[in-house]
Amino acid sequence: MGLAVARELIARNPHASLCVLEREDEIGTHQTGHNSGVIHAGVYYAPGSLKARLCVEGAKEMYEYCELRGIAHEACGKVIVATERSELQRLEELERRGRANGVPGLRRIDAAGIEALEPHARGIAGLHSPATGIADFSAVAACYARDVLDAGGTVATGCGVEGIARGRRSLRLSHARGTTEAGHVVFCAGAWADRLAVAAGADPDPRIVPFRGAYLRLAPARRELVRSLIYPVPDPSLPFLGVHLTKHVHGEVLIGPTALMAGARDAYSLRTVRRRDVFDTLAWPGTWRMLARWWATGVTELRHAAVRSAFVRAAARYVPELAPGDVEPAFAGVRAQALARDGRLVDDFVFSRTERALHVRNAPSPAATSSLAIARHVCDEAERAFDLRS
Ligand SMILES: Cc1cc2nc3c(=O)[nH]c(=O)nc-3n(C[C@H](O)[C@H](O)[C@H](O)COP(=O)(O)OP(=O)(O)OC[C@H]3O[C@@H](n4cnc5c(N)ncnc54)[C@H](O)[C@@H]3O)c2cc1C
Repeated sequence: MGLAVARELIARNPHASLCVLEREDEIGTHQTGHNSGVIHAGVYYAPGSLKARLCVEGAKEMYEYCELRGIAHEACGKVIVATERSELQRLEELERRGRANGVPGLRRIDAAGIEALEPHARGIAGLHSPATGIADFSAVAACYARDVLDAGGTVATGCGVEGIARGRRSLRLSHARGTTEAGHVVFCAGAWADRLAVAAGADPDPRIVPFRGAYLRLAPARRELVRSLIYPVPDPSLPFLGVHLTKHVHGEVLIGPTALMAGARDAYSLRTVRRRDVFDTLAWPGTWRMLARWWATGVTELRHAAVRSAFVRAAARYVPELAPGDVEPAFAGVRAQALARDGRLVDDFVFSRTERALHVRNAPSPAATSSLAIARHVCDEAERAFDLRS
């Protein structure tokens, strides 16, 4: 997000002095580099929401950008599979949402239609979204960084912002390599977005709670089980899409992710636990309210994370041939999930403002897909909020 916003800002203001501060030594090492790699078409999101609008626009722009920059991508399409009658009403609602959002080519399919597209999948009804696809989002981030550099901006890695002080006409950002003074700042800090927003004077609500999402991958000899992308019908009250099977641009087929509350905002390994992150999660009233409501879902997720056969069984609901011997462990991502004080899992993108700063406070999936469209939205806000001519 930060790089997408930076490239848009400098394209609009070619004479501005612009610098991206990145805390890691490499770019794109958190959510952008650890996700399902799917260009979402906009099926799921409530019509009229920012997420819906920016996803449909963003997907189209993402395909064009990948094409232009030679980034690996494919509009391979996706099937959402209902396996039980109780899911049919939700499938209908998804179809209604997709149509209202203007998702291109969306169509309802029956059991035979599912098999025609995905010969190893089984279901009683489905939705086919031919505009859904896959892309290498790490390569996208690298190209965004290149665009920033080519336009005269700077990308400084190893510069985790630790403190924010207000000057008379600037913000002073302190980091490992010194201090950067900026007239205006756009904060896009993923799993750490709430901390920087609060340090800049924003409301602590919502807080970011990390959810670890582990993936399995199909053994190379079993990749023929999946041609493109196979998704379940999600629970509309949760911001997670459920365990899905996704072809990757480099040929692998991923299964996942799980969604398990994690002990650190960078808990790529289960062993990574950070005292401050655990404290922030447990001290937040929203955490306990969420747990009271979702404990049963939490137990299921814990089983998926702990017992590989249970994880595989969840995916075998719609690809019945899948067996525990067909999979091997893959990587994990950590989702920056914004959690409101009242226990609500915040689903839409959230942007906010403090003096001389804009904050991308919540940029969950499909923010990788929508990054170019979100960047335009943030830059429009920046033009309203900041006097960039000075
Ligand atoms: C498991 C999983 C699967 C997903 N699947 C998809 C998908 O298929 N399609 C899709 O569109 N989206 C998907 N998403 C969502 C998508 O990956 C994110 O919405 C998107 O990458 C968010 O980008 P970001 O820049 O906000 O966050 P990040 O990529 O996490 O980047 C935040 C950056 O801020 C830096 N930072 C943090 N704190 C500081 C600081 N103090 N100072 C300086 N720098 C700092 C971090 O080092 C990091 O580089 C998925 C996410 C997850 C976790």
